[in-house]
Amino acid sequence: MKKLSRRSLSVSLSAVCIAAAMLCSASLQAAEVGVAQTAAAAKGTFKEWVEAIAIPNDSIVAADIQRNTAWFEQAFKRRGFRTQQLANDGKPMLFAELPGNKAGATTVLFYAHLDGQAVTPSEWQQESPWKPTLKQRNAAGQWEALPIEQLYGANPNPEWRLFGRAAADDKAPILMMLAAFDALKASGVTPSVNVKILLDAEEEKGSPSLGKVIDQNQALLKADLLVVLDGPMHASNLPTLVFGNRGVAQATLKVFGPRQDSHSGHYGNYAANPAQTMARLLASMKDDDGRVTIAGYYDAVKLDDESRRVMRAVPDDEVALRKRLGIAQAEKVGQNYQEAMQYPTLNVRGMQAADVGAKARTIVPGEAIAELDLRTVPETDPQVLLGLVKAHIEKQGFHLVNGRPTDDERARYPKLAAFDYARVSASSMAVRTDLASPIGKWLRSAFVKTYGKEPVQIRMMGGTVPTGAMVGALKIPFVIVPLVNADNNQHSANENMRLGNYIDGVQSLTGILTEPFPAK
Ligand SMILES: [Zn+2]
Repeated sequence: MKKLSRRSLSVSLSAVCIAAAMLCSASLQAAEVGVAQTAAAAKGTFKEWVEAIAIPNDSIVAADIQRNTAWFEQAFKRRGFRTQQLANDGKPMLFAELPGNKAGATTVLFYAHLDGQAVTPSEWQQESPWKPTLKQRNAAGQWEALPIEQLYGANPNPEWRLFGRAAADDKAPILMMLAAFDALKASGVTPSVNVKILLDAEEEKGSPSLGKVIDQNQALLKADLLVVLDGPMHASNLPTLVFGNRGVAQATLKVFGPRQDSHSGHYGNYAANPAQTMARLLASMKDDDGRVTIAGYYDAVKLDDESRRVMRAVPDDEVALRKRLGIAQAEKVGQNYQEAMQYPTLNVRGMQAADVGAKARTIVPGEAIAELDLRTVPETDPQVLLGLVKAHIEKQGFHLVNGRPTDDERARYPKLAAFDYARVSASSMAVRTDLASPIGKWLRSAFVKTYGKEPVQIRMMGGTVPTGAMVGALKIPFVIVPLVNADNNQHSANENMRLGNYIDGVQSLTGILTEPFPAK
């Protein structure tokens, strides 16, 4: 295939314009990216997309994962890829590589996942989550089904959506990738980078074996850069690059009161209530603005002016966000939503002390429990953060016990607590790539050329995705390129993918694949 980047295509079109005595308009140049070709290629994969969604993909069922892996293997093979199923206890992952790799060229590993979240079919407003259903929004704002044949018509409406489990998360980006290669082939263009693809089979279960599978296939997966095709785009639906994700750690805090639940009449004012002791302890960890007051908790996080500029430029509608959350004001951890995501959290995810509602009894409870989660950041090891919390608890005068306090401990210490946490797995670790890194520059340049403007850049998203396992095992820089509409209901009922996003996604990928690395 003839190598023809968008830039050289632009030059040759310009030459044609000059030859045609300047009859060409600027619009011809704007069409250089092959918008029509990528759209045609995108539509050309709609049948395969429907076929792929129809294969159930909850990784609890190994046989279903095998069917998915086999289906995607054939789809890549049809396009000339060399493929290999990577053994993973009956739930094979898929590796695909475009032959003809150029020695010395940059190799990019694209990651996506073929498994999906579990479903509760009764919650879906269609026959089955595995029967992809085309829908349009009616005048009343309700989604109504259209004959699936309309998806394959000449001009499907970009506002229509295809509903089904994994329609967006994460089968759409895989199909978009297939379409992008169809578009390149139809244009006689070869990618500017060497391409490898890895499809995870257990992402929705936290990718427990991803690190292991990568370690077993290090030579095969060796690459210079990692591009993660997963997650939703920014809520504005503008092209988005995500440079990192927070990690997550969990801990259980128990505060002990009397040996057992005790009569609140006989022992109120005498035996300290662990729920109130717990409340004071938790309150000592944060100020009224929501900032963690534990010494050293935020110390490693340093935000420079450029990072702050990038975060301010994200078109978040915080008024709408607060309205959606139903809160009058935000906590003051960061100057805006994006900045708040750059700091570790200390979150109470559940609390209990005896029973509530009709079951509530007149007792001083024997213990109070708070389940905590910490969204962590790359600057501080989660064990260090957990250690700071632990030290803070002890500083408040608590004696920490293992399990339940012994009689001796009950006799000696007025304030007893237990603080338990496990080591954080690689897939739950925070990771981040610098905004100014070569991979960031490369992807930004691809998007600017494709769309004529800077993408939305998320320095670090708040949630956790298992990039930590990949980055830990491959030791290469990564960026997440989300391609699906933010309102796709991923992980819940009625998951859907907007057709316009699918077509744009193919264009984004075509732009990335033809962008030379490093960007000029
Ligand atoms: Zn996903």
